[in-house]
Amino acid sequence: MITRSHHLRQPRLWQSLLAQSITDPQSLLRMLELDPDLLNPAQLAAAGFGLRVPAGFVARMRKGDLDDPLLRQVLPVCDELETTRGYSLDPLREQHAMTVPGLLHKYQGRVLLTLTGACAVHCRYCFRRHYPYNEHNPLNTQWEQSLDYLRKHHDIKEVILSGGDPLSLPDSRLAGLVADLEAVPHIETLRIHSRLPVVLPERVDTEMTAWAEKTRLRLVLVIHCNHANELGRPVAAAMASLRAIGVTLLNQSVLLRGINDSSTALIDLSERLFSIGVLPYYLHQLDRVQGAAHFEVDDKTAGALITEMRRRLPGYLLPRLVREQPGEIAKTPL
Ligand SMILES: *Cc1c(COP(=O)(O)O)cnc(C)c1O
Ligand code: SF4
Repeated sequence: MITRSHHLRQPRLWQSLLAQSITDPQSLLRMLELDPDLLNPAQLAAAGFGLRVPAGFVARMRKGDLDDPLLRQVLPVCDELETTRGYSLDPLREQHAMTVPGLLHKYQGRVLLTLTGACAVHCRYCFRRHYPYNEHNPLNTQWEQSLDYLRKHHDIKEVILSGGDPLSLPDSRLAGLVADLEAVPHIETLRIHSRLPVVLPERVDTEMTAWAEKTRLRLVLVIHCNHANELGRPVAAAMASLRAIGVTLLNQSVLLRGINDSSTALIDLSERLFSIGVLPYYLHQLDRVQGAAHFEVDDKTAGALITEMRRRLPGYLLPRLVREQPGEIAKTPL
């Protein structure tokens, strides 16, 4: 007989899918029927920051198209090996802003916790590609210390879970963490920044919605989607189940050369997001991290794109174009 506790210990579907993610460049090239000559550079670039992408996300890519906007976000390429002046390993100087390891209190009223370094997908443009996550994992030894900090700072109303990807943690751990946060009276809002609901929508299952529905905290989920092609039916279904339990859904994107640097792509994205109940929040200018320079869009082009979007979209579908600058009181509008 299978007991209930026994049953709960089984990996969830999303965990199995996550474990089956594509991490070998050769498999990715084969699945997409791409030129095998791409393998050598892909392997070289993957040595620094590995390839990782769930199969369901690959299924949304066009076969044989090296310019596919989803593929470009995950395929390691030799451009990443170039060293570019003005680009650094820790562009936001986050290591200096940490009061408690894994806790960033840069802006008033809200703190950001980096709970895990694990991500479901390795985005080639990511500013955390050189970040020593494992040293800053508040869920291990530092969780009590972080909680203490939150208890003592009565002006903190919002806790932001970031990463890595906080939803790569199991629901049992997240539910425990939420319970700890609920016990701090001045905390009102829990915001989760995650790419998982987009790249692996199976993540939003009944075990997740169970704690999400129960909490007294106002929940905000900021998904991270850069192109309308990322948003298939399973993502729409995941968003619908979160909306049904009252989660506020927002999206942030990074402006990326060759991926979403056209007004058509950005307008499609905003409209598609809205059709599944998500409002655009931020459009980030790339953080200048070594290995990502080939994705940069200059500020003048970015400004022109936003102007064109403003002309063609209602105000509520216009993301705020921002750059994150060390030492500022908030993200800097451009
Ligand atoms: C981006 C960020 C936040 C959240 O900023 P919002 O403008 O509220 O979205 C909070 N803390 C840190 C350290 C951040 O980088
Ligand atoms: S932190 Fe976000 S952007 Fe960076 S690799 Fe992970 S999912 Fe991608």
